[in-house]
Amino acid sequence: MGYSLWSLARNARTHHENWPKAWRSPEPKPAYDVVIVGGGGHGLATAYYLAKEHGIANVAVLERGWLGGGNAGRNTTVVRSNYLRDESAALYEMSLKLFEGLSAELNYNVMLSQRGLYMLCHNAHEVQDAHRRAHAMRLNGIDSVFVPRADLARHIPIIETSPHIRYPVLGALLQRRGGVARHDAVAWGFARAADARGVDIVQNCEVIGLRREGARVTGVETTRGTIGAKKVALVAAGHSSVLADMAGLRLPVRSMALQALVSEPVKPVLNCVINSMTVHVYVSQSDKGELVMGAGMDKFHSYGQRGSVSVVEDQVAALLELFPVLGRLRMLRQWAGIVDVCPDASPIVCKAPIAGLYVNCGWGTGGFKATPGSGFVFAHTIAREEPHPLVQRYSLDRFAGGDLVDEHAASGIAH
Ligand SMILES: Cc1cc2nc3c(=O)[nH]c(=O)nc-3n(C[C@H](O)[C@H](O)[C@H](O)COP(=O)(O)OP(=O)(O)OC[C@H]3O[C@@H](n4cnc5c(N)ncnc54)[C@H](O)[C@@H]3O)c2cc1C
Repeated sequence: MGYSLWSLARNARTHHENWPKAWRSPEPKPAYDVVIVGGGGHGLATAYYLAKEHGIANVAVLERGWLGGGNAGRNTTVVRSNYLRDESAALYEMSLKLFEGLSAELNYNVMLSQRGLYMLCHNAHEVQDAHRRAHAMRLNGIDSVFVPRADLARHIPIIETSPHIRYPVLGALLQRRGGVARHDAVAWGFARAADARGVDIVQNCEVIGLRREGARVTGVETTRGTIGAKKVALVAAGHSSVLADMAGLRLPVRSMALQALVSEPVKPVLNCVINSMTVHVYVSQSDKGELVMGAGMDKFHSYGQRGSVSVVEDQVAALLELFPVLGRLRMLRQWAGIVDVCPDASPIVCKAPIAGLYVNCGWGTGGFKATPGSGFVFAHTIAREEPHPLVQRYSLDRFAGGDLVDEHAASGIAH
């Protein structure tokens, strides 16, 4: 490390002043080769891989608020690749592998912690499904193991394993390489690395219309003026359908408020990630000591990034059913993010049926883990004008043809 005690003391004395900015704040240029709408993790990763893998750096990422103000900074940071279908397993596993090298790739610590992820089974059906998924994952070269109840108490000492509770825990599907990563570090790391390759990141710049010449999209109207583009890529998560609507394109996406909450920080009590689809909560412990939990969703469509009391009540009740020892834990705060849910709980990554327009959305409740992979395959799709082999099934056509990739069970959230 190039830091001496003396330089640490000097920086402390100067209150961390004059540090270089991690990325520039440029005025938008009149036109770019590619304009990416949405400065979340997926938009920033797309920009980074466009510049790095395809040499396309004349790119702007337009963000209506601040970087990471959307779901990139609101999610509960779980990463995993325990999906059932071959095409999902390949895509999410590629993303997890990119995560495993991401801190080195970006020279930015994304705090990946592969502490193991357990998906609990509470009935015979879930046990059968977990075995099926474990086999499918292994056939796809992904680590997975079924942990019977007798072993669970050893793995997770504070979990309630009594056979006499409402939904006794019968076992769990474990992916040891699953875990968590620091969400905003992922966004900031991609932002810094994309900026270093010449990408313009423009915050406080809302896209309010799409410019068209004939049948082709040729740019965007924004709150900071018109910006021309050879290609426009929509990566706006919960607001994707609003943006696509500006081009007259109707997406099969529902926008829902997915919620999360954290407790006060406590000493380390949980060294893995736990997910229960039946009791319906998932939980991990952050490095600060807070228990981070989620899985609750408002039952109606909305763009309000707020939590709601009934969801908090359900989440806390579920937590206590699994971990009665946490009965005196106090909750600290709650929030929501607007997720973009497709009918099959799988994403859309493709060229739109409108020239010059590209769509990346539908990651719904589970797109954080896909951030690097999504950017990688979307950059390929934009640059080469053809779908990356890993996303051939994830086009809009599948909804017309009924060729869905149903991953509701792997999404970890009932919806
Ligand atoms: C509470 C919660 C918990 C979650 N937990 C997990 C988890 O544990 N693991 C996991 O894998 N996934 C999780 N997810 C899902 C994950 O967060 C998302 O799938 C993923 O972050 C979406 O991609 P993104 O980061 O690019 O989205 P966002 O960060 O939402 O990026 C989209 C951006 O587009 C911008 N935008 C919208 N409209 C416009 C416009 N007109 N002009 C300019 N910019 C615009 C928005 O401001 C936003 O910044 C969770 C989501 C929520 C809400």
